[in-house]
Amino acid sequence: MTQSANPLKQYFRQPAIYLRLPTGGKYWPPGSIELTHNGEFPVYPMTAIDEITYRTPDALFNGQAVVTVIQSCIPNIKDAWNAPTADINSMLVAIRLASYGHELEINSTCPGCGTAEDYAIDLRNVLDQLKLPDFESTMHHGDLEIAFAPISYQNQNLSSQSQFEEQRRIQSITESALPEEEKIKQLNDAMRRITELTIDALKWSIAGIRTPGAIVSETEHIQEFLLNCDRKLFTRIRDHVINLRQVSELKPLEIVCDNCKHEYRQTVTLDMTSFFEPAS
Ligand SMILES: [Zn+2]
Repeated sequence: MTQSANPLKQYFRQPAIYLRLPTGGKYWPPGSIELTHNGEFPVYPMTAIDEITYRTPDALFNGQAVVTVIQSCIPNIKDAWNAPTADINSMLVAIRLASYGHELEINSTCPGCGTAEDYAIDLRNVLDQLKLPDFESTMHHGDLEIAFAPISYQNQNLSSQSQFEEQRRIQSITESALPEEEKIKQLNDAMRRITELTIDALKWSIAGIRTPGAIVSETEHIQEFLLNCDRKLFTRIRDHVINLRQVSELKPLEIVCDNCKHEYRQTVTLDMTSFFEPAS
């Protein structure tokens, strides 16, 4: 028996918008994205299942929810774990836009007087502002030349998850009834692990290092170099990577409080609290 085509198919969700990725598909490993001839990707609104997936707190924490929803709403994305992080915000903004329209309301409390107010953001402008960081420029240090690349969503997720766990551990050590000496020892260990995690995230952000005699792209060699280079160069590399990352982050909202005229900046995130329309 052959399955007949479902007459309801034409009523399935349709692409709501077309998205251009900041990377244009560059830096995605082969097979993880299906490129289109004009560089635009159809973005579908979320299904009921996508919404439930995205609302599950644990799934959100481990990144699986983000990956599942991106792959469902942007079918050209075959493996979102391999997405360069520079594209993640664009894809999430586009999915929010396709699902609920272009207006996003952010609630903000003035640090000056405590007045809470809703502010509307146009997600179309947010999308336009998200640019690809300059991964073409290299950093020179003596006769070394360091080249950078975006870190994958998977590696970033691993890194921030471990950072979060270490922070939590520090919290519990601080609050514990351990003898002072033991506390200091455990805190030092936790701090060292956080530094190691920073180095992990950095090594994934370095595409390669050129010396007069060789081009080094092996992650283990780069990691060893980061562990053994001098503090000043390490800080330069770290700051450079932080600057690159900021380009692909959502710009903070510049707010002037209506009540007390205090000027401040409100960070904009697409986390659980702001991603969905309030349930009606
Ligand atoms: Zn105020």
